[in-house]
Amino acid sequence: MQQRLSSPRDQIKPAYDVVVVGSGYGGGVAASRLARAGQSVCVIEKGKEFLTGEFPSRLPELRHELQINGGKMRSGSHTGLFDFRIGADIHVLVGCGLGGGSLINAGVALKPDPRVFADPVWPQEITDDGLLDLGFGRAAAMLRPARYAKAAELTKYRALEAASAAFGEGPIAAPVVVSFEDNVNPAGVSQPACTLCGDCCSGCNVGAKNTVAMTYLPDARAHGAHIFTELVVSHIAKEADGWRVYFAPSDAKDASLSFVEAKTVVLAAGTLGSTEILLRSRERGLKLSDRLGDGFSANGDIIAFALGGTEKVNGIGVGYPPKYVGDAIGACVAGQIELPDAHHLDRSMIIQEGVLPSALAPLLPVFFISGGRLLGAAHSLIKGVYQGPLSHLHTFFVVSHDEAKGRIRLDNGSATVEWPGVADEPVYARVDQALTRAAEAVGARYIKSPLAVTSMGTKPATAHPLGGCGIGEDASAGVVNHKCQVFDGEGARVHGGLYVCDGSVVPRSIGVNPLLTISALAERAMIHLARDHNLGFDDLPRARAEASS
Ligand SMILES: Cc1cc2nc3c(=O)[nH]c(=O)nc-3n(C[C@H](O)[C@H](O)[C@H](O)COP(=O)(O)OP(=O)(O)OC[C@H]3O[C@@H](n4cnc5c(N)ncnc54)[C@H](O)[C@@H]3O)c2cc1C
Ligand code: SF4
Repeated sequence: MQQRLSSPRDQIKPAYDVVVVGSGYGGGVAASRLARAGQSVCVIEKGKEFLTGEFPSRLPELRHELQINGGKMRSGSHTGLFDFRIGADIHVLVGCGLGGGSLINAGVALKPDPRVFADPVWPQEITDDGLLDLGFGRAAAMLRPARYAKAAELTKYRALEAASAAFGEGPIAAPVVVSFEDNVNPAGVSQPACTLCGDCCSGCNVGAKNTVAMTYLPDARAHGAHIFTELVVSHIAKEADGWRVYFAPSDAKDASLSFVEAKTVVLAAGTLGSTEILLRSRERGLKLSDRLGDGFSANGDIIAFALGGTEKVNGIGVGYPPKYVGDAIGACVAGQIELPDAHHLDRSMIIQEGVLPSALAPLLPVFFISGGRLLGAAHSLIKGVYQGPLSHLHTFFVVSHDEAKGRIRLDNGSATVEWPGVADEPVYARVDQALTRAAEAVGARYIKSPLAVTSMGTKPATAHPLGGCGIGEDASAGVVNHKCQVFDGEGARVHGGLYVCDGSVVPRSIGVNPLLTISALAERAMIHLARDHNLGFDDLPRARAEASS
């Protein structure tokens, strides 16, 4: 039986060696590595813990897990799994729960083009000390990206192959952090094989996705970390010999703040979350770089669709237990077309085919087919979605590059992104052109995200927010140094015992889905932290016997 990782909040101790705020990739890496190094570790996560089988699989459940925040707009629970941030210029979707974005992502795990790290925006040590490669290796050993061996047999992969005629470049199987065979993973957790149900982006109810909640967090817990959920950190404050981390129950209105003390704090609340905590801390007097909030990138991340082609796609999940039995769907992403540009890195792009979660099925006729409400009434949903016109729906995820010119600032105490003119970033026109050609190659009509033109206005949206606490040489260039230590605002001097480890430290777009890079940078930071503090840890897999003892 799957073990719950979180403890009741009244068990939180007054002080720990380390407090980790947030539990996505950066937080998971920090908690696992520092617990292995013998530190007393406390993880504080804003969202809920979901066990396998508890993820939303029907539309009402999905709605219940949606929180929308932005300006004066606010709906849903503060612990909703899907955290939509509405911005004046661009919208952002992030995951909220124990495991962060890993719970609802597609799990594509790619290393960036080496030209990304050759950009002088990164301090030289990042490429020179060899630890980034070690970090990539350690992250891959824990998360285990794999290409599905029979990807080319999936209907949706063949549909992508047909679309790829537009580019003269065929697809290849995409590496995803999914277990395609029964196994005991390096954290000692048993995982069954993927059922190819396609519902990765609403949460894996099989237990086959190698999320942070299946890997780094159980590893941290097995090495003594205390994990608490549904607690939101408001700010941190420096004390004579360490830090105070102020928090409150996530959903309690006007609750008074409690605090926990720590010698070391690792902020890992995600691009928006960590930047938000530091902005609020600065308002209360903490000295930080003036660059805080700058350098936000949407990673050239786009979701778009094509409909009306002659061939079937099978791009809508069936969930688990399956709502419809037919041909296998496949993990959310099985194939991708890589379109590198040898001369202009920023023009490189990767087009991935994606699957929409089964819980969204009742909404799809409304979004995609004129008179869809009537169609929904006339046909059974099953027929309409899995056999009718919507079985020909292509979903495309694209990653590329932008200029990272967004700025995160506080609005009513919460992070919002400002980026006037972002919709004119050249990446959006380039992707529109490419996807129009892909759609034409399969006789389909290209559709920009229908979400973008309905409830959220015609603004770009991203699920890959990066930056805000970017790595740089010193406080004039970044918010943290190459070891992810936070600058105190004066040159290259840092605050002792304060780190940021998550997507916010990435100072530019990376042109690939970011989970592996975020994890690698966090692994690298933990190696440095251990060296600087004479700590040691191994990264050996846990044996199953040890796990069950
Ligand atoms: C639908 C979707 C699909 C995606 N697909 C892919 C993909 O295929 N491949 C890929 O590489 N990336 C993908 N991503 C992006 C990827 O999941 C994120 O880049 C990644 O999760 C970011 O990791 P992180 O460590 O920065 O923080 P997160 O994973 O965002 O974790 C931060 C955590 O901190 C918590 N938190 C925030 N504020 C506070 C606070 N004040 N107090 C306490 N806790 C707080 C949050 O609830 C969250 O759990 C996808 C994202 C989405 C939404
Ligand atoms: S396809 Fe289904 S079983 Fe496989 S990882 Fe995704 S959600 Fe889990």
